[in-house]
Amino acid sequence: MDVADIRNLMRKTQASILKNGFLGKPSDDLGNVVASDGVRAMMESALTARDRVGVSDFVLLENFTSEASFIENLRKRFKENLIYTYIGSVLVSVNPYKDLEIYTKNHMERYRGVNFYEVSPHIGKRYDLRHIEEEGDGARREFPPFRGIPLNREPSELMLQELVWSQKRVENRLKQQRGTDSSDVYAVGDNAYRSMRTERKDQCILISGESGAGKTEASKKILQYYAVTCPVSDQVQTVKDRLLQSNPVLEAFGNAKTLRNDNSSRFGKYMDIQFDFKGAPVGGHIINYLLEKSRVVHQNHGERNFHIFYQMIEGGEEDLLRSLGLERNPQQYQYLVKGNCPKVSSINDRSEWKLVRKALTVIGFNEDDVEELLNIIASVLHLGNIQYGEAEEGNSCITSDTQIKYLARLLGVNGAVLTEALTHKKIIAKGEELMSPLNLEQASSARDALSKAVYGRTFTWLVNKINASLTYTDDSSKHYSVIGLLDIYGFEVFQHNSFEQFCINYCNEKLQQLFIELTLKSEQEEYEAEGITWEPVQYFNNKIICDLVEEKFKGIISILDEECLRPGDANDLTFLEKLEDTVGGHAHLVTHKLADTKTRKVMARDEFRLLHYAGEVNYNVNGFLDKNNDLLFRNLKEVMCMSENKILTKCFDREELSDKKRPDTAATQFKASLAKLMEILMSWSRRTSAASSPMTPSRRFDEVLIRHQVKYLGLMENLRVRRAGFAYRRRYEVFLQRYKSLCPDTWPSWQGKLREGVATLVKHLGYKPEEYKMGRSKIFIRFPKTLFATEDALETR
Ligand code: ADP
Ligand code: MG
Repeated sequence: MDVADIRNLMRKTQASILKNGFLGKPSDDLGNVVASDGVRAMMESALTARDRVGVSDFVLLENFTSEASFIENLRKRFKENLIYTYIGSVLVSVNPYKDLEIYTKNHMERYRGVNFYEVSPHIGKRYDLRHIEEEGDGARREFPPFRGIPLNREPSELMLQELVWSQKRVENRLKQQRGTDSSDVYAVGDNAYRSMRTERKDQCILISGESGAGKTEASKKILQYYAVTCPVSDQVQTVKDRLLQSNPVLEAFGNAKTLRNDNSSRFGKYMDIQFDFKGAPVGGHIINYLLEKSRVVHQNHGERNFHIFYQMIEGGEEDLLRSLGLERNPQQYQYLVKGNCPKVSSINDRSEWKLVRKALTVIGFNEDDVEELLNIIASVLHLGNIQYGEAEEGNSCITSDTQIKYLARLLGVNGAVLTEALTHKKIIAKGEELMSPLNLEQASSARDALSKAVYGRTFTWLVNKINASLTYTDDSSKHYSVIGLLDIYGFEVFQHNSFEQFCINYCNEKLQQLFIELTLKSEQEEYEAEGITWEPVQYFNNKIICDLVEEKFKGIISILDEECLRPGDANDLTFLEKLEDTVGGHAHLVTHKLADTKTRKVMARDEFRLLHYAGEVNYNVNGFLDKNNDLLFRNLKEVMCMSENKILTKCFDREELSDKKRPDTAATQFKASLAKLMEILMSWSRRTSAASSPMTPSRRFDEVLIRHQVKYLGLMENLRVRRAGFAYRRRYEVFLQRYKSLCPDTWPSWQGKLREGVATLVKHLGYKPEEYKMGRSKIFIRFPKTLFATEDALETR
């Protein structure tokens, strides 16, 4: 068949479709043509398949305002192992809890090397689906690939291209329905990468969802995608390896088994991946957020301490354990037995240990670094095993010096000085230093404070060390573009929720703000600014909850800080009282005193409840003040400053000792670091098309859980905004610059106003009024396919 034949065929096909309607009974002479070429057959099977697998973009959902059909679509897809579904640029994923073979190198390759106008493969997919969807309801008779091209015109190259192209798309689509291609998380990665390259703008990928939803896995998949698909050079290979290997290390030290997730991130992570002008990854930078340090000394039932402890004990070589003074039995260590859960069936500590050791080497840790690091980790376990007894007058004493001996050796500190510091507190009164003995309880909490400080600071050191190894060193081209990847601990509700959950859930409130900003607010504001008319969509703005937590003077953190700094009788319960007095009437806060009789039953006297955007959580105030104060006695700091361990000398700075100013509380520091993060990402949001992906966890398809997340992640609102909106927008000058060659009036240059130039151009291209709108500075295009067609025209010009 030559080109003329195809043209002929297409003309006939078009005529047939217009005459009979899509899927209508084809007339004898023309029907054969359609069927024999398989177009109709393909379309039909795609349609039946759609009933089975649902739509890959919620934007195409017929009943897009119904939550039931939203969930039904997720369920259909989940059953077919299609865990990803879009809402425009937002990717929704349902955790399959099993390996789907969709993360292979082949899959990655499939997303790479497509033309610009296929900007993101997922948008490509949407393109062919829209053809099917819009025809499938039978109401509209038009056959979209031909829409916008007047019948009386000769079929142009453009049409030809489009048919062939959409046919290819349908084929791909069918392949996908066989379950071979659904790793859309790569598409998100690819989309960000492509936008960064073509538009020279920094990008961010925001991952949100409840704990266990699959955020960390998704972020790792995206990183792997870049590692496999981006261009390489020798130096770049090292960077790639380091970027990838930073994960197992950070997870070993910062993740732990919780009741919700066997590999739960107990710290927040924001990672910048830096690319040079060729698009090769050349560096990276990680910012870590508030590690859950309390886990070092205590774990709830069914939970574990950080993985690294078990990895070291299970996997460490005999010699190593001997030199660290450790036994190969986690049950021996007080800090590892609290949760009564030393082994987890899904985790192989021994093989993880090997991976972590290897990763440390790749990142550039030498033998000494590793030794010092492990000395610290082992020391924490020894600290936990220190036994206190009661000496005279209720003062504490250490009953066995076994641990002190190990500690002295491993940390390079004086055993006697350490012993004194673990049982006394240094007071400076009238310029004189006094050692005041601690009672049993004070001594063990001083010891725990030391363990937490040592572990927490070592973790920060670790992040810094990784950052140093990821630092972009080539000074010749300072300009690099960035893709930011945000993976933060997910919203969490347990039976018992404490300060840690308060911080984590506050962080998720902030993240939701970001999500709203990136996907809902900015979209609506843009239409407004551009003077585009459309139906505004109502959504719940959780700013009110963020304010409740973080507002100056009146916010919960301020009230907590006030109690922490107040000398005298301040304690957790006085904090609760103050909370009642100050914000008791707030719509999103309930306390025991103010709870109605119905809810009082489920609320203890020492709890307050926050009505988060993602659900209600009762927080027990017990320990809030201590955890927020996060104090370490001065003499313990002094001992650490004297340590011969090089990591500890970096972690404990002598200057800290002379610093009179009280350090900020834990919550205030956290608030400040989150504010900084929001600043970075919000400022980007104006420049980037962020791909966000809220995630939904489910071992099976747990409808209650999923309904809950759909609701609280604001997915329905998101969909409504998307449906009301436009798929593409381009600034007039960018649009004109790119496509001016397609119209004799705008080529080689347009002298008049930009807006008029674009109007002339699209008129020449045959855009229909419903396909686009002209804003103040941008053209808004409703469907991706319109832009695809124009891109095609550019290709075939
Ligand atoms: P989060 O970071 O959101 O708390 P994770 O990313 O750690 O959750 O995922 C929790 C667990 O769910 C993982 O350890 C893994 O077992 C499973 N999981 C998550 N995403 C996927 C996926 N895409 N395919 C298969 N299993 C997954
Ligand atoms: Mg995680």
